[in-house]
Order: sequence, then C-alpha cells, then structure tokens
Amino acid sequence: MKLLEERILKDGKIKPGNVLKVDGFINHQIDVPFVSELGREFYRRFKDDGVTKILTIEASGIGIACLTGLHFGVPVVFAKKSRTSNISTDVYTARVDSFTHGTTCDIIVSKEFLSPSDRVLIIDDFLALGNALVGLREITLASGATLIGAGILIEKAFQSGGRMLREQGMRIESLARIASMTDTGITFIED
Ligand code: 5GP
Repeated sequence: MKLLEERILKDGKIKPGNVLKVDGFINHQIDVPFVSELGREFYRRFKDDGVTKILTIEASGIGIACLTGLHFGVPVVFAKKSRTSNISTDVYTARVDSFTHGTTCDIIVSKEFLSPSDRVLIIDDFLALGNALVGLREITLASGATLIGAGILIEKAFQSGGRMLREQGMRIESLARIASMTDTGITFIED
C-alpha cells in the first residue's frame, strides 16, 4: 500500500537489531486519520469473510485494532501480557517470545470473549519471526473459533515469520512488505 510505504520512508527510523521504529505515527504517537485509512484497507480485504471479532496483542496492536474494528463494526479483544505465573482456568493462554524485548511472556485472553461461533481476524503492527501470530493463533484455535487470517501493517519479509505461517496455510495480508532494511535505505516488495 503506497500510502504506508511512503510514510515509512518519510518517518520510519531504522534501529540496531533489524528494528524499525514507527513511533511518530503508529507506535507511540498515533496519527489517527492515517491509521484509520489502514484499517479501512483491512476492511476492504477481509469484508467478505464474516469477521465477528478482531484479536490483537497489547500494547501497540490495540490502537490499530480499534481503528480497524470501527470499519468492521465488531468488538476488539486484546491478549494481555501476564506478569504472574499464576494463570487461572478462565483464560486461554499461549507463550510468546518478544522480538523487540528479547523476553518470553504468557499472553492471556479471557474465555468470556472468544467462542466457537466467532470468526477471528488477527491484527498487529509488525510481523518479524511470527511468534506473536503463532501465540494469537493458538489462543483462537483453543477457543474453537475460526481463524480467518491476519492483517499486518508492516511485514519484514526478510525475516522468516511470513513465509513460515503462509506455508502453514495462514492467510496474511500485509500492507507494507519490507524486502530489505539497511543504512542506505528501505526497499519494499510490490504486490
Ligand atoms: P514476531 O512475533 O513476528 O517476531 O514480532 C512481532 C511483534 O514484535 C510485534 O507485535 C511487534 O510489536 C514487535 N516487532 C517486531 N519487529 C518490530 C520492529 O521492527 N519494530 C517494532 N516497533 N516492533 C517490532
């Protein structure tokens, strides 16, 4: 999606460890009309799939998921990162390695908010190694809900997550796919 690619080139900042910072418009300060346009694009791509719920992971997925949920008119559920090892039986849980923090945590979703009749669209800001999506898929499937696929703002296609998950049959729609990211610049994979 040209709109997002141009904004990444203008405002994205490359950090050590293959991390792209988009804090000025997505991850810290949010350009609401802009992200809402990205949400509209997810709606255009998934509107015929009968989505009943959007699922994301705290913290940076929440704003994007909400602005997407507005276009679908469905609730947004976000997986919480659990800080206790004492996990109740009222939640679905999965273990996720964090790409940016280098830590592992349990993510949890209350059983109240996902059910077998749900058709779930996962939304997140980045796709790198695929750990966040694997965890969210695990939680969706544990609930008996149908997983429609995932909408990702920025896929770092030079990392392995997108290929691995597509090979496993997950539908992933990424609005910008980065082919390479170096000191000399960012290049995208064009659809
Ligand atoms: P994965 O689980 O696919 O390895 O990484 C995806 C998660 O890590 C996303 O939820 C995102 O928050 C974070 N992440 C991965 N790569 C980047 C990056 O380059 N920049 C930022 N800001 N977050 C990233």
